[in-house]
Amino acid sequence: MSTPPKKTCRLCRKAKPLELFHRLHGSAALHPFCKPCLGTTVQQRFKERAVKRRVNKKECAQCAQELPLQMFHWLTASGTHHSYCRACHAAYMADRYRRLLAKRRTL
Ligand SMILES: [Zn+2]
Ligand SMILES: [Zn+2]
Repeated sequence: MSTPPKKTCRLCRKAKPLELFHRLHGSAALHPFCKPCLGTTVQQRFKERAVKRRVNKKECAQCAQELPLQMFHWLTASGTHHSYCRACHAAYMADRYRRLLAKRRTL
């Protein structure tokens, strides 16, 4: 009985069939990482690079912290980012809601 040849992936450390490994260009050697692992690492690196490429920052008008743009709500109507960061905006909205409730109670 012969078992199909397997290779241990250097990343996930699992023995996998050889067809799950890319053949290195121009040689009989196989890539040390299996295809699924290679896929995720390549994707991850690509994502990190994509994030780094658009490191646009904005200063919050409330807490004066310089934060990445994803930390600000996008205002579709005005085509700009909110001047408050998400955290400050949430605090502002909560405060406004609380004041509204208090006002309603006094009425
Ligand atoms: Zn692997
Ligand atoms: Zn803020």
